[in-house]
Amino acid sequence: MDRSQPIAVVGAGSAGLLLALLLQRQGHAVTLFERSPQLRDEGCGILLVKAGVEAIAAAGIPGLLEELLVAGIPVQRFLFRNLRGDPIETSPAERAAGELPSLLIPRPAILGALAERLAPESFRPGAELVEWQQDEAGVRARFADGSRWQGALLVGADGLFSRVAPALVPQRRLHYLGDRVWRGVVPDGTFCGDGDFIVYARGRGIYANVFDLGRAADGTPLTHWGFFQEEPLPAERQEQRRLLREPVPAAALAKLPADVAGLIAATPAEAVVANWSFDIDPLPRLVQGRVALIGDAGHAMSSSQARGMTAGLEDAVGLAARLADDAPDPAAALQAWEAERLPVVHGYQTRSRQVSARTGRRSPAKTS
Ligand SMILES: Cc1cc2nc3c(=O)[nH]c(=O)nc-3n(C[C@H](O)[C@H](O)[C@H](O)COP(=O)(O)OP(=O)(O)OC[C@H]3O[C@@H](n4cnc5c(N)ncnc54)[C@H](O)[C@@H]3O)c2cc1C
Repeated sequence: MDRSQPIAVVGAGSAGLLLALLLQRQGHAVTLFERSPQLRDEGCGILLVKAGVEAIAAAGIPGLLEELLVAGIPVQRFLFRNLRGDPIETSPAERAAGELPSLLIPRPAILGALAERLAPESFRPGAELVEWQQDEAGVRARFADGSRWQGALLVGADGLFSRVAPALVPQRRLHYLGDRVWRGVVPDGTFCGDGDFIVYARGRGIYANVFDLGRAADGTPLTHWGFFQEEPLPAERQEQRRLLREPVPAAALAKLPADVAGLIAATPAEAVVANWSFDIDPLPRLVQGRVALIGDAGHAMSSSQARGMTAGLEDAVGLAARLADDAPDPAAALQAWEAERLPVVHGYQTRSRQVSARTGRRSPAKTS
């Protein structure tokens, strides 16, 4: 396509940042719109599985892979324990010679590494998309501050609560997976061995994991934890928000062995994030005309397979490759991407749901 035609990417999470960066490097006139006044680089650790690290490698952005390999730590072992802390199973993370590792890495390190490579003039923070429309000539978008944008393509990378998605796939609904989830990062270098990912098997209405997060830039050792408590989703949004400001309830924490409960309790409040767990059903499409969905906007899934961020990074690499082709019709490029991508993300979503159900969550209840 003609690279002077404007492209909007909405949402500066990992998927939107990588796509905007790739399009910018291809010479496209891309603008990345983000609702927050600055990059939302809060958050904790994630497991970026090998396919996600491979997507970063495939992006071919000089220095990016190397930077992330330094910021993260290769996962070495998965240790499964019961709620008394007794070992159930230990499995080494298999890795053939020359293969890239799966990484335990702070989310802010990934977002920061992508954002620092994006030309500042391509980034529009404080721009919340409220609606979009399209016709044969192009796409128009309106933002909460009253500003408008017009161009050739619009990509919704605006996450689970996407504002781009409803007009593209009206039947998209959030499905509550049954847990209130807290995640935190605590300065600690003793709980996990190097590259350990510890899972406390679900039981008595809770589930938890703890993993090594390597060292911060100043050398402080870091440990990530996640704590899931099964509970109904309150009907009122205000009550949902209020509960997300609470720390992990002491009675729930007491169901864990004392050492891990102590680690969680010692985490400063500002290093904890909380959310209600949702996924979405596989969507019948990711593209309509000149508008596409990538990342959680198109296929939010449970964390059971640690696939969410990887899937969005893969989306970005694949879509950028299609838009690099010199085909004159940008809508045809989006369609070609959707044809190859839809079955893959449906597979990830189905598998994540199956594993969620098998490891004890209630079957997802419909909410909107
Ligand atoms: C408990 C938990 C554990 C997880 N663990 C893992 C893991 O170990 N490994 C893994 O790969 N994945 C994991 N995930 C999933 C992963 O975090 C997500 O899949 C990934 O971060 C989604 O990236 P994204 O770029 O699609 O969306 P997001 O990161 O949600 O970014 C969306 C961006 O869009 C912006 N935005 C929203 N609406 C608008 C609007 N109207 N206008 C403009 N901007 C807007 C938001 O402010 C945000 O910056 C986990 C998720 C949870 C909840």
